[in-house]
Amino acid sequence: MSANGAAVRILDREQTCELCHGIMPAGTPLTWPNTPTAREHPDYATWDTVNRRWTHAGDEACGKLLGGFTPANQLPRTAAPPQSTLDNTPPAPTPAQTTAVVPAAETAPAVATTPTLPSLTSEQIAILRGGGRFPRDASPDEIRFGLTVADQIGLNVWAGQVKFIRFRAGEPMVPYLGIDAYRALAERSGHYQGREIKVVWDESVKDHPIRAIATVYRDDRQHPTVEEVEWSEAVRYSAKGEPTQPWQNMPVTMLRKAAEERALRAAFPLQLSGVYGDAEVPGD
Ligand SMILES: [Zn+2]
Repeated sequence: MSANGAAVRILDREQTCELCHGIMPAGTPLTWPNTPTAREHPDYATWDTVNRRWTHAGDEACGKLLGGFTPANQLPRTAAPPQSTLDNTPPAPTPAQTTAVVPAAETAPAVATTPTLPSLTSEQIAILRGGGRFPRDASPDEIRFGLTVADQIGLNVWAGQVKFIRFRAGEPMVPYLGIDAYRALAERSGHYQGREIKVVWDESVKDHPIRAIATVYRDDRQHPTVEEVEWSEAVRYSAKGEPTQPWQNMPVTMLRKAAEERALRAAFPLQLSGVYGDAEVPGD
């Protein structure tokens, strides 16, 4: 960390990109998946929140789909666009040429383009930790980093649109979005046409529905996205082995939310992959 405390987050030790197996040396700048920074800097390191592994940050590095983390060898190969006979400008460099693993020394200039992390008072840090927006053990640097990430996604941490959770001690935090934020990000795509959610009960189960089915519509897709979620696979348990409080107190709401989150994420992968929803918050 620099003397003024506004350090860019960097890898504190070498990591291997699990997609291209390139070495990301200690000192490689960190960013979140699906942020403008990640798209601009494929040579940054990111914690892939879906598959829980380190990878290069950008969509072009290692052939990843934008936000989709699809390994290169599983991507459909798209043919190069036909060259216009009028266009004699040289082709843009291909991702492979621009995103080769670079030594630490060469990553340094990129840091200058990273937004400066906000400075926070110790009071603000205490509020963010105590209010459940960040893990209680979040360092001031992690909090500054999280606020910057939220800002880049266009969500407000103070308003509770996004919060950060750590699955296990020592792991990087991951962003969790409330259902309102999910809908807002879908809306921002300009193609969201609403959703329907059906809840299915079974006579033999009194306490909760057994299934929820969410359908999401886009105006630029011929078919809606339908996601079906079973209670048994969606419910979260506490360490005591009981459903967590939200799942006990609001079983219908939570199951609906789980289905809606999944359908929204499937329908809007560019906006929503790499983030978790309310209904997926693990038990403690
Ligand atoms: Zn890679």
